This record gives sequence, structure tokens and C-alpha cells, in this order.
Amino acid sequence: MKPTRVVIIGGGFAAVKFAETLRAKLRPSDCEILLFNRENHMVFHPLLADVAGASINVDAAAAPLRQMLPDVGCRTERVLRIDLAASQIEFDDGNGVLTRLDYDHVVIACGADSNLGIIPGMTEHAFPFKVMRDAIDLRQQIVRQMEQAEATSDPERRRWLLHFIIVGAGFSGVEVAGEVNELVRSSTRFYRNFSKEDVVVTMVHAQDQILPEVAPTLREFAQKKMEKAGVTILLNCRAVAATHEGVELKDGRKLLGGTIVCTIGTTASPLVQNLNVPKEKGRIRTTPEMRIEGQTNAWALGDCAFILNDFDKKPCLTTAQFAQRQGRQAALNLLRILRGEPTKPFSFKALGQLCSIGGYSAVAEMFGMRFSGFLAWFMWRGVYLFKLPTWSRRFKVALDWAWDVLFPRDLSFLNTDTSLNVAHAYFLPGDYIHHQGELARTFCIIDEGEVEALKVTPPDPEPKIIAVLSKGDFFGEATLLGDHPHETSVRARTVVRLTQIGSGLFAQIAGASTPLRDLLSRTLTRRSGDFWRRLPLARSLLSDDTLASLLDPLPAKSLNKDTTFADAILALNESPSGELLILDEKQRLWGTLDRNDLYDMTARIAIIPPEERGDLTRRKLSDLLPGNPLYVSLDEPLLVAAATMLDHGIFWIPVVRSKIDLQPVGYLRGERIRSRMIQKLSQGKSAHAQTAS
Ligand SMILES: Cc1cc2nc3c(=O)[nH]c(=O)nc-3n(C[C@H](O)[C@H](O)[C@H](O)COP(=O)(O)OP(=O)(O)OC[C@H]3O[C@@H](n4cnc5c(N)ncnc54)[C@H](O)[C@@H]3O)c2cc1C
Repeated sequence: MKPTRVVIIGGGFAAVKFAETLRAKLRPSDCEILLFNRENHMVFHPLLADVAGASINVDAAAAPLRQMLPDVGCRTERVLRIDLAASQIEFDDGNGVLTRLDYDHVVIACGADSNLGIIPGMTEHAFPFKVMRDAIDLRQQIVRQMEQAEATSDPERRRWLLHFIIVGAGFSGVEVAGEVNELVRSSTRFYRNFSKEDVVVTMVHAQDQILPEVAPTLREFAQKKMEKAGVTILLNCRAVAATHEGVELKDGRKLLGGTIVCTIGTTASPLVQNLNVPKEKGRIRTTPEMRIEGQTNAWALGDCAFILNDFDKKPCLTTAQFAQRQGRQAALNLLRILRGEPTKPFSFKALGQLCSIGGYSAVAEMFGMRFSGFLAWFMWRGVYLFKLPTWSRRFKVALDWAWDVLFPRDLSFLNTDTSLNVAHAYFLPGDYIHHQGELARTFCIIDEGEVEALKVTPPDPEPKIIAVLSKGDFFGEATLLGDHPHETSVRARTVVRLTQIGSGLFAQIAGASTPLRDLLSRTLTRRSGDFWRRLPLARSLLSDDTLASLLDPLPAKSLNKDTTFADAILALNESPSGELLILDEKQRLWGTLDRNDLYDMTARIAIIPPEERGDLTRRKLSDLLPGNPLYVSLDEPLLVAAATMLDHGIFWIPVVRSKIDLQPVGYLRGERIRSRMIQKLSQGKSAHAQTAS
């Protein structure tokens, strides 16, 4: 008879325990077990902070699945879809071919993904802390920051380099903060240009207590101990944005630091998101025996599942303890089903909590007793050592820990060439992207928002705006191609998102691609330093005019973000100039609408899947337009406004009272600028003729 095929998706605590238990009970000739995990190893998450803090070697916290589960078929393909009706999974076979595989039972144990998108700028500037790569990257970053702090002669930059900001003070936040603090402070003795006093580790937490999951006495102990070790703890502080400079808090304060670790924010994996089954808070709802509600041969376990604990009738916690127990019990339930026996509901009494806080100290609640300090730390290490999946791992980690107590932490790091990176960056209005005179490191493409290029021309110390750039524009090419320092500063006018291509990679692409080189040299000619140098007549004609003198009044009608597509088209038809402003709820400029935007909207609609389009005529403008239009403010020189219009090939631009309030005050039109120049030219001619006569 054909063996029953059980497909497990995931290779974490739940999946491994499930596979181990089932394999121990059923022979391969009776049951084929296939385990699909994106990586070929299981990550032991409780040790990730130790990897980041260099107190254990990277490979000690990862165990190869193939060696742990010798009689299980381990596969590293990523499962893309589960067809519950057809009992099939779909995966990419590694050569770009989608492959389908039948199953008798499927077990979904794919955990959760981190989601830094909950705070603007975190995705671009913070380190997540979920998978092995995150811990390795953070460790590299910490050592890189110390090396740069040693090299710099600028005290302000050194302070920025040595400030490490950890967002979130749950278990992983506290463990990371403790380890980072320990690594940096214990390593300062190997550097000459900074000491322990220069290091700042800040933990930012939105609640009024750290470690909300543990008893008050333990969390108070943890807080005091960490503060004594030098960690600054900011409670009741919500991070609202992250930028290259640091973290912005809700109360308006800005923490300036070069390393941000975000330990908050999780989301369901795409596989779970796309699965059409009952869910609670993004997790798959199961019956008490752990089958997916409404399914007979599909199971869900671990962090991706919403399972009620029969022990206390509460939802299970998303911890390794629970995931492992669920894995074991679900395997036993499957066995019962195969044998025609009744299943049992999941029931488990949590054993306790353990959290390391750095400096050979921890807090622990085990079997109803509480421990703190060195004893708790010793227990923490003992428990995790015992929990490690294989004996070889246990020896490895024990050796690393003993090494860590006796010898300094390892400060070597791979000096990967950052000039070959592509990164993303987020800036708030007023943030500088680079300063005039700095060496160029990146070529920047604006994904969202608007920036201004400012130039200081001695002896005048005041910077003057010489250009405004927006979505789709790029900058940095002149400096990189010319290999000289930046001739202008670039500052964000709005919230800005950039794609940044490292100088090395940029040189390779620009060198290899003729069309790109041509495009860059055309832009370079257009912008070269001062736009108006090549149009001296136009500059002299416009230099004493103000923007206000050429302003057209606002049209009687404007739209708002919530205006429907149908109403917007009607309004555009009725508008004499065919140009309308879109305002937000505070009557600030949000967008513009002219015939070009209509084409953009049509293109956007075309890519919405037909089943999601709904009634297009009732869709709001905010769904169909990106917002963030180009604008100039009344206090800007007319020359800047004209250069911005020429640079972007537009015939009109909204003018706002100031960049802060964004209240529209009128339009500037290309026609008006042209007529003004012609008027001045003819005045100049008649004056010349009068003088001659
Ligand atoms: C930094 C950190 C510290 C922690 N510390 C503790 C602690 O001290 N104590 C504790 O009890 N818990 C701790 N946890 C929580 C614990 O690690 C999780 O609850 C546990 O790992 C959940 O197990 P799981 O099997 O559900 O998922 P995971 O262990 O996350 O495993 C899921 C696996 O599925 C794979 N996968 C996802 N999608 C696919 C796909 N489409 N195809 C193939 N494979 C896929 C992933 O690559 C991953 O390997 C910690 C978590 C973190 C992040």
C-alpha cells in the first residue's frame, strides 16, 4: 500500500517536534514525511541575541535539519501556495518551474515574519531581529560602528556611531540590549579613541514597564540592573519614525544614533495571508486538536496558528515552549486519526520564563519560583543548553560560553564592500541627505517626496535653493562621475524615500550601460552646478521679479482626497484651465489633477486586478493618485520655480504660502513667465531705441 504522505511547511520548533514525534511512531514504509523549510537549518531563536553580541559563534544557534531528522525528506524550496481543496502544495523547484505535490495531510508551521513597516522608516533604517541573517548583520554592524568611531576625528559623528537604539523592551528587545551593551562596553579597552563613557545604548518602550510578561519584582530587578550596566531605558516613549539620523519619538524628541534595532512588529507570512481559512489576528484558527477549522487533513501549529489552550482556555502564547508542545501533540493526534482513535485537545501548563539581561545576569520564573542575577543567568544558560537540539550543538555552545567567560569577545568582522550595496532610505522634512563639500557615497533615486538642492556661494554664508527634485528624479551622479565632493547640499522638503546605489555599483552600471550614461550626461548638462549659467539672458530678465508678482489666483473650485473619480472628471471638464488642486482634510496641498494625471490614473487602474476594481467611478482620488505633488513656496526665488518647471517638463506648478503649512496661494504658469520675459525684452528694446534716438 502507498505510504501516507505528510507534508510539513516550516522547520522551526513546531515543525521539527512534529516530524520527530511522527517519525518515532511510524516507519518510513507506512508514512512518508516531507519537510519544506526555506533554510536548511532550524534557528534556535533564544540564542540569536548571543550571536549578535558575539558571545557564541554563529553556527551554534543553527542546527542542520537533515542531520537532526535523518529519516525525514528535508527540502529547502519555499512553498508558495497551498490548494486545500485539491490537497496539493505548490513550490518553486529552484529552476523557476512551479511544481505541485499531492499530500494526504499538510502541517502548516511556518512561524511569523517581522514587519518593520508599522513605523515609517524602520524598514529602511532598522535591523529586524528574527532570523539568523539579522543577528549576523547586527553583529557586523556593531563592530563596523566601533571601527568607524575609532577612525573619525569628529566628536559628534563618534557620538552618533556609538549610540545603539533598541526599539521594544519585550523579551527579544531586552536580550538584544543586554548583549549589545555588553559587547560594546567590554570591547572599548581595545580601542584608543573612545571609552565606555562614550557608548550609549538606549531601549525605547511604549509601555510603562519593560518585560510586561514577567512578575513586577523581576522586571524591576531587570530594569535596575540594566540601567546600572549603562543601558538608558525610555519608558512611555513611542517611536514614530526612523531615519538615517536616528529615531524620532512621539513627544518630538529625536534620538541621534547610527544603529537602530527594531524588535517589535510581526506579520503573518505571505503563505498564511493568502490562505482562505478562518483567522484571528492574522493567525490560522484551529480546532482544539489543531486541525484548521473546517478542514480534515490540514493542520496549523506554532506562531502562525491561533490555538486555544485547554489547560486555561486561553489562546496559546507565541513562544518556543508552546510551539514544541503543539508539534508533539499534533503528531500524536494525527497518529490517533490514522489509527481511528479519538484525538485530544491541546493542553499545556507553561513551565516559566527566562530572560537574559546581559552582564552575566538574568531574570527567571520557573515552576512558580522567581530567580534573578547570576543564579538566574546560570539557569538560563543551563536550560537552553539542555534544550538545544543535538549533542554536538550542546558541546559547541557550552564551549563558546566557557570561552566567553574566560576570554574577550571576538571583534573580527567581514569588511564587506558597502559601495556595492543597494539600500533604501527614509527622511523627514528638513533632514539633510548630504552636505555640500562631503564626499559622494551613493547615487540616489527619489521613490517618494521632494528634495531641494542648496548651494552656499561665498562670501554669502546663506544657502540658496537652486533646484527642487521629486519622485523619479535622481541626484549624486555629478559628484560620482566627476569624483569630486558634492557642490550642493540636498535637504528633504517632505517625507522622502530614496533608493541609494553605492558608488562602486553605480560606477559599474554607468560604465557598462551606454543609454544610462547618455541619460546621466543629459541630466548633468541640464543641472550642471547652476542651471541658469547657460541661460544668462533669461536669468537677467527674471532675476528681479518675485514669484508673487507672477502668481495666478487659485481657481474657485478645488478637490479633496476623498473626491470620487467620477466627480473629479466632471470638475476637470468644467475647469477653464484644466488644472485643479487636491487638498487634504486640513486644506493643505495634497495633490494636483490635470490631463497628465488622468493618464497616470488610467495606468494605475489598469494594474488593479479586475476582481478588486469594484465601482471605479466611486473610488477616491487618494486610492488612485500618489499625492506628494511638486510645489514651490512663496518665499522661493522665481528662478528656482522656473528651473523646477523646466527640469520636470511641466507647464504649471502650485505655489504654497510656506513649506510648513502647505496652504495653496496660487499657481505659477510657464505662459506667464514667458510673457514676462517677452515684455521685459520689448521694454529693453524700446528703451534702447529711445536712447539711440
Ligand atoms: C529573537 C527572538 C527570541 C526569542 N526568545 C524566545 C525565548 O527565549 N523563549 C521562547 O519560548 N520563545 C522565544 N522566541 C519565540 C520563539 O522563537 C517562537 O515562538 C518559535 O520560534 C515559533 O516556532 P514556529 O515553529 O512556529 O516558527 P519558527 O521557529 O519561526 O519557524 C518557522 C520556519 O518556517 C519557515 N518558513 C516560513 N515560510 C515558509 C515557506 N513558505 N516555505 C518554507 N518554509 C517557510 C521559516 O523559514 C522558519 O524556518 C523568540 C523569538 C525571537 C525572534
